[in-house]
Amino acid sequence: MSVSAARVDLDAIRSNVATLKSRAGDADLMAVVKADGYGHGMLPAARAALDAGASWLGVAMADEAIELRSAGVSAPTLAWLLGPNDDWNAVVAAGVDVGVNGPWALERAVAAGAADGRPARVHLKADTGLGRGGVQPVDWPDLVDATAKAQADGGVEVIGIWSHLAYADNPGHPTIDRQHAVFEQALEIAARAGLRPQLRHLANSAATLRSPATHYDLVRPGVAVYGLSPGPEVGEAGELGLTPAMTLTTQVALTKQVPAGQGVSYAHRYTTPLPTTLALVPLGYADGVPRHLTNLGEVAVGGRRYRIAGTVCMDQFVVDVGSDPVSVGDEVVLFGPGSCGEPTADEWAEAIGTINYEIVSRIGARVPRRYEGER
Ligand SMILES: *Cc1c(COP(=O)(O)O)cnc(C)c1O
Repeated sequence: MSVSAARVDLDAIRSNVATLKSRAGDADLMAVVKADGYGHGMLPAARAALDAGASWLGVAMADEAIELRSAGVSAPTLAWLLGPNDDWNAVVAAGVDVGVNGPWALERAVAAGAADGRPARVHLKADTGLGRGGVQPVDWPDLVDATAKAQADGGVEVIGIWSHLAYADNPGHPTIDRQHAVFEQALEIAARAGLRPQLRHLANSAATLRSPATHYDLVRPGVAVYGLSPGPEVGEAGELGLTPAMTLTTQVALTKQVPAGQGVSYAHRYTTPLPTTLALVPLGYADGVPRHLTNLGEVAVGGRRYRIAGTVCMDQFVVDVGSDPVSVGDEVVLFGPGSCGEPTADEWAEAIGTINYEIVSRIGARVPRRYEGER
């Protein structure tokens, strides 16, 4: 059994979903479980979210949706990033709703529905200003007309119309109102063509928490399900009623005394100022400890913080523990909710100029996930 683990607190996920539901008003909640549940494990995260009142699941990839169904998860699910070479037939036959990003995708959905003998369930995506997925306003009326025709012919059933925000993590940013207005126009154009889907959806975690006008019928939080704040402008996790679900731990693999002036790890980016004890920590960048944390990141041993000494390697890094009584086998907490003095994913992210999303979702496959609060 690996001494390292990403411990995932499923009760924290349940409580976060309950918090998000209470913030979402009358809207239903789609828990976004893409990217292996942001590194937490897709299936346990999905089940915990459903326990706590999520009524939908959201994923990006075809294979993610198929994996949910293969594991017996039958909740309504949307897969929004199918490409032309994905197996649309398999996704539609699995009873998964698909995002439609343009006319080509509509054709694929119609064909998959025909193969399955019932209309494919689609969610039409408008690009209301993010400039990423979805259809530009100028092309929207044509897609809407083609979709209305396909629906009349029994090729698709339009379940949703949706979009995604560029600056939701900056509440009050003028683009939020602007995208909201463009979304309203897109809905109106669709309604004129006879499309009045049951689900209009626009809000990610940040908008669920801070922009109620964007809630519509369904909210799509991801990062907040895992207890992480979508960004500093949205608020701290604790203030938002969220509990980080993941704690990354391992055990000290070696300690040794070294003299002053000892260069540590590749390229000797750290040199011991005094005779000291070095402790070896057996997790590295292959496990998702960013190499940029070299000489920057902190970890906790016995509730005390130590800075990473020298270069983070593929499998390991070193900390200088001075004269503290740290021994082989002692637990090292790399990050967690912060309740026992350990750093948070937010702190790591801040130290290297990224976001907490990237810290948790890049924890590697070599690190086993261990679940607490399983039902
Ligand atoms: C990832 C994603 C979400 C969830 O975003 P968070 O910021 O994690 O809440 C919602 N909608 C879409 C389209 C996404 O890609």
